[in-house]
Amino acid sequence: MGTYNVVKFGNSALREKSKVVDVVDDDIRKLTEDMLITMHEADGVGLATEQIGRNEALCIIDVPKEYACDVEMPLVLINPEILEADGELYEQEGCLSFPNIYIKVHRSKYVTASYTDLAGNRQTIKATGLLSRAIQHELDHLNGILLVDHMSPVQKVANAGKLKRMKRAAKQLRM
Ligand code: ZN
Repeated sequence: MGTYNVVKFGNSALREKSKVVDVVDDDIRKLTEDMLITMHEADGVGLATEQIGRNEALCIIDVPKEYACDVEMPLVLINPEILEADGELYEQEGCLSFPNIYIKVHRSKYVTASYTDLAGNRQTIKATGLLSRAIQHELDHLNGILLVDHMSPVQKVANAGKLKRMKRAAKQLRM
């Protein structure tokens, strides 16, 4: 065991805002381990608590070494914050909560982020490229912001059928 189902678009859990983690304890470490297994099984490079129906301010990232900006992976970000953002990127992005949807999203090229690590220490990192995008994407989740919110009207029209089907499936699961 130790894995979660990743909730999909249409599930209200994805709109929850996360709550600050006061203490990094064994529960948080176990949650992190289970999230890492879940993310790797799903072939994702990032996962936020909202995507497994929880709301601790915690997300995980695991990008290939060549994109990791010398940051050790996997990266566990507790109570993360973006301190600085600069430049522009416009690249294709996907999300485990939006299967089969890939859209180009405007992001900052560089970010400086701070977070608490699993030892309870505050850390600061600088990221660019894929890691920068992943940090921005996962922090969006912690604020209840989703890929669909970044869609232009044209992208929304192009993905309307898929979004509708996802919403319908989420409704059926609730019954
Ligand atoms: Zn996502």
